[in-house]
Amino acid sequence: MVELAKRRGLVFPTAEIYGGVRATWDYGPLGYELKENVKQQWWRTMVQLRDEVVGMEQAILGPSQVWEASGHLANFSDPLVECAACHHRFREDHLREEQLGAEDAEGDLSCPHCGEQQFGDPRNFNLMFKTHSGPVEDDSSVVWMRPETAQGMFVDFATIQRASRKKPPFGIAQMGKSFRNEITPGNFIFRTREFEQMEMEYFVEPGTDEDWHQYWIDARLAWYVDLGIRPENLRIREHGDDELSHYAKRTVDVEYFFADTSLGWNELEGIANRGDFDLNAHSEASGANLDYFDQPNDERWTPFVIEPAAGATRATLAFLIDAHTVEQVPDAKGNLQERTVLKLDPRLAPIKVAVLPLSKKDELRPTAREVFDLLKVEWMCDYDETQSIGRRYRRHDEIGTPFCVTVDFDTIEDRAVTVRDRDTMEQVRVPIDELVSHLRDRLPR
Ligand code: ATP
Repeated sequence: MVELAKRRGLVFPTAEIYGGVRATWDYGPLGYELKENVKQQWWRTMVQLRDEVVGMEQAILGPSQVWEASGHLANFSDPLVECAACHHRFREDHLREEQLGAEDAEGDLSCPHCGEQQFGDPRNFNLMFKTHSGPVEDDSSVVWMRPETAQGMFVDFATIQRASRKKPPFGIAQMGKSFRNEITPGNFIFRTREFEQMEMEYFVEPGTDEDWHQYWIDARLAWYVDLGIRPENLRIREHGDDELSHYAKRTVDVEYFFADTSLGWNELEGIANRGDFDLNAHSEASGANLDYFDQPNDERWTPFVIEPAAGATRATLAFLIDAHTVEQVPDAKGNLQERTVLKLDPRLAPIKVAVLPLSKKDELRPTAREVFDLLKVEWMCDYDETQSIGRRYRRHDEIGTPFCVTVDFDTIEDRAVTVRDRDTMEQVRVPIDELVSHLRDRLPR
C-alpha cells in the first residue's frame, strides 16, 4: 500500500528531497481527492442530510484558557518511558499492550530497539504543540495548536445555537486539522502528529443521552459499511471503566481490522457520552452562560453531549486497505493475468471517469476532447492518451477509477463511446448524447 501510494502520487513523505520528516506525509493529486471525498461524504451524512446539524470552522491556534478549562493542559498526556541503554522513547501503554497483552499488564518490558530491559520510570508527556502568537515570545503570547476539533463546538456553543436557532437535540460539526505531539507516530498515516478529524457534538436533553448515544453508535457503524468497508472488518469495542476519559460516561470505539499490518484491530472513531462536562467546564472558566433555555417548560438546563469523533486521515487509510484487491483475470488469449484494483466506492474514488482515445492519432482527438469537456463539468475526470488501451485500463483500475470511456474510430461515425466498468470489466456502447445521464445513474453523490 505504501509503495502504491507513493508510485501513484497518493501519499508520500513530506519534504522527501531533504530526507523527509518522520511520520509526516504529503497528499498528492489522487490522495488529496480521496481524502477530501471521505470528508465530503462525512459532511453530507452528518450535516447536509440532517436538518438539526450545522457546521463550523474554528481557528487552529487557541489561547491557554480553552485548553485549561477542557482539561487538556492537565490531562492530555501519554506515559513515556525511555530505554536507559539506547535512549529511544516509547509509549509505555503501547509496549505493555504489545508485549504483555494489555495496557495495564504487570511485567518487564523490553526495548523494541535494542532489546534491553532497562526502562526508567514513566513520565507523563503532554501531547499539545505550543507556540507564540506575535513577535514577543513570553508567557503572555503562548497559544496552542488544537489537539482536537471538538472544543470549538463547546466554546462557540451559545453563539451558534442562537444564530442557527436550533433546539436540542441538535448538533454542531467540524472537520479539519488537529495536532498531537505523539511519542510514537507511525504505521503510515494511521498515527501522525498532524492529522485531520471529523467530529460532531450532539447536544441532547439529559435523560435522553443514553438512547442518543446508542443511536450514533449504530449510525456511525452504518456509515463505514455504506461506503464499502466490509462489515466483517468492523467492530464496536466498549471502553472499560479504567480506560474511560475524565469526562466520559460511556465510550465505544469503532474498530477496523487492519489486515497484514501490526495494527490488527484498531480504532477508527471514538463515540463518547460526555455528559455536561465540557459546557460546564467552559461556563465556569469563562463566566459565559452555556446552558439552554427551554422556553415551553420555562427551565434552564445544560445539554448532555454525544460525540462521534472520527479521523479523516485514518479513515482514508482504512478505505484504501479495504478496497485494495489483487485478482486473477483472463486476458484476450484466455491466460490468467494479475489485476490490481482499488474497489473504492465510486463516491470516494479520486477520479470518477477516465477518457481514453483508442489511439493518439489526430483524428480521434477532437471527439475525445469533446467527451472530456462534457464530463469534466460533472466529475473529476482524467484524459489519458499514452500507451496501450490495456495498460491505461490497468492504471485506472489501480487507482479505483469506476469508469473508463473509450473513444475509437467508430465514434466519429456513430457518435457512441465504449464505457468500461472497473469491477465487472464489462463494456457497453453508449451514445455521447446519453453519456452524462448513463454515468449519473451509476455515480451516486
Ligand atoms: P489513540 O488512542 O489512537 O491515540 P484517541 O482515542 O486519543 O486515539 P480521539 O482523541 O478519540 O483519539 O480522536 C478521535 C479520532 O481521531 C481517532 O479515533 C482517530 O481516528 C483520530 N486520531 C487521533 N489521533 C490521531 C493521530 N495521531 N493520527 C491520526 N489520527 C488520529
